[in-house]
Amino acid sequence: MANLTRESIRTALLEAHIPSLMAALVHLTGDASHLLPEHPPVYDFFGDGQGDLPDAVQADIRQRAEDALVAHLIDGRPLPPAPPEATIRQVMDFIAGVDIPEHYVPFLLEELGLDGRDAKQPDWRVETLAPKRNLSAIIVGAGMSGLLAAIRLRQAGVAVRIIEKNAEVGGTWFENSYPGCRVDNPNHLYGYSFEPSHEWPQHYSTQPVLLDYFRGVAAKHGLREHVRFETKVEDARWDEAASKWRVTVTQKGATESLEADLLVSAVGQLNQPRLPDVAGRDSFAGDAFHSARWRHDVDLAGKRVAVIGTGASAFQFVPEIAGKVASLTVFQRTPPWLGPTPNYHDDVGGGMRWMLEHVPTYESWYRFWLFWMLTDGIYEMVKADPAWDGDTTAISAMNAELRAALVEKIQEQIGDAPHLRELVVPSYPIGGKRTVRDNGVWLAALKRDNVEVVTNPIAKISPTGIETEDGASRDFDAIVYGTGFTASDFLSTFKVYGRGGVELHDRWQGDARAYLGLTVPGFPNFFMLYGPNTNIVVNGSIIFFSECGVRYVVGAAKLLLDEGAKSLEVREAVHDRFNADVDAANADMAWGQPGVTSWYKNAGGRVSQNWPWPLVDYWRVTLAPKAGEFVFDR
Ligand code: NAP
Repeated sequence: MANLTRESIRTALLEAHIPSLMAALVHLTGDASHLLPEHPPVYDFFGDGQGDLPDAVQADIRQRAEDALVAHLIDGRPLPPAPPEATIRQVMDFIAGVDIPEHYVPFLLEELGLDGRDAKQPDWRVETLAPKRNLSAIIVGAGMSGLLAAIRLRQAGVAVRIIEKNAEVGGTWFENSYPGCRVDNPNHLYGYSFEPSHEWPQHYSTQPVLLDYFRGVAAKHGLREHVRFETKVEDARWDEAASKWRVTVTQKGATESLEADLLVSAVGQLNQPRLPDVAGRDSFAGDAFHSARWRHDVDLAGKRVAVIGTGASAFQFVPEIAGKVASLTVFQRTPPWLGPTPNYHDDVGGGMRWMLEHVPTYESWYRFWLFWMLTDGIYEMVKADPAWDGDTTAISAMNAELRAALVEKIQEQIGDAPHLRELVVPSYPIGGKRTVRDNGVWLAALKRDNVEVVTNPIAKISPTGIETEDGASRDFDAIVYGTGFTASDFLSTFKVYGRGGVELHDRWQGDARAYLGLTVPGFPNFFMLYGPNTNIVVNGSIIFFSECGVRYVVGAAKLLLDEGAKSLEVREAVHDRFNADVDAANADMAWGQPGVTSWYKNAGGRVSQNWPWPLVDYWRVTLAPKAGEFVFDR
């Protein structure tokens, strides 16, 4: 806002998230009585979080904020001293709508970042800790996790090289360009904690915006010169004599061997397309492509198009293409749960953007609210109650209650198309698979005259179309596969040979496991980001996991120097105990239930993707590696 006036502030405040504004008022005025415990924020998934705040109460809060902001931003009244921790806790409890358990407090204070400090930035450097040593790292992948690892390791004085197969940074945000691709986590949560953007144009911004964000972060942190683009890692071998990783890379046909002390895989889980194992798949004579390899040269307009799959990707591109194609046939095996998200495609208003940037602490509290609402605040709803005696469509009374509320919302949308009900209401418990964000466009697309949903299983693909098991045959000009990724085949694009020449995938035998998703016995100085059992279902942001994981990796580099060691390797017993605990805990979660199938489970049925506990636990266990859990080679 160029000319800040009382009127311009008043206009901006019309877009305020009132609970976050109440929290900010406490900081603006030093007065905690601006919190109105009788009007707590509501976490109902369905609304905008203002709860049932009467208009008069909203107006009153806006007026108080207007006065405080005029005093501070126009009249120059300094902010009062930062509130004491007891008051911050009071605000946290208010925003969360519960008494936040004590063990959450340090975690949430860090997440809030009210002191403006980048708490996860390393507070040490190689040259001060061990002046005679150098440390180097090779990072595989320049997506969200790889860039993050590079930033943090460089902050600690570790020399990094990033090897990236693509010609650009961004990983998944570079590769997925299908129509309608956008982040399905609120953008004000989906960003590095230390690089908040006040400028997200939408609450769930589109892929080009996300790609720009990661490009911008790479440029700002001077990373591009450390990236070898269009270079593929073929394999990595641990050289025991030298205690180095030797990494074979190829670039434009030329092979080279690189060396580093640390090897960090940041290749992601969701980038190797999975095409369904259907007879005759390759015989199809029309155009056929996967959502993550979208053929922008193929014009689908006026064509007869088949879409296979109804996961998060199809959910985004089907509504985009439905109105353009002649006919669209959606082959659905399992419907996703629809999570009502009215602002899914909405712009962030100018007033909200102004507040995020200029109202002290407003952005932090808004992020905190999103964080709690989407993660640990709803964790219990997707946890099985052993005493639950209802049917298998739910796992607890709370889960059943949520189910009923979601079904009601779906029902409202189905309206005049009752045949859809049995097609789109999942029979598995909510939380079994990733819930997709719904603002009505999905069911509106399925209700179109030119759209058909087929649930009869696919029997075969022929040169002209698709045949289902009931004998029906449909002809198509194009098939789009929204069939996901080979997520449980971790690191499938390269080989990693650890101590004794053991190859990582040979060790795993199709059942990838790691300690904290990060480190594997027999593979010294090797770390994975977004590795086994670090995925989340109750939404949260995977960036949070990567930030925790990277802190641990940087901590491991420090541990090497502290111990005067050349390498460290997690103890087998530590790894095994952790994995046994993971398996037991996953069995209690919605996604671990026997009848639920998803990419979270590997071919053997084990949940190899998901973290089963609240986020606070990953934060705590990744604060720093414990020396006692490792074997050191000095
Ligand atoms: P996905 O969730 O694995 O969905 C694949 C879909 O294909 C499922 O509906 C699956 O059915 C179906 N399918 C697979 N083989 C089939 C066959 N032979 N016949 C019929 N249907 C078949 O893949 P995705 O949609 O690409 O999403 C993967 C993950 O990527 C998401 O869970 C999410 O974490 C991430 N993602 C994020 C965003 C975002 O943030 N914007 C967008 C897209 C994806 P079943 O369910 O029965 O297996």
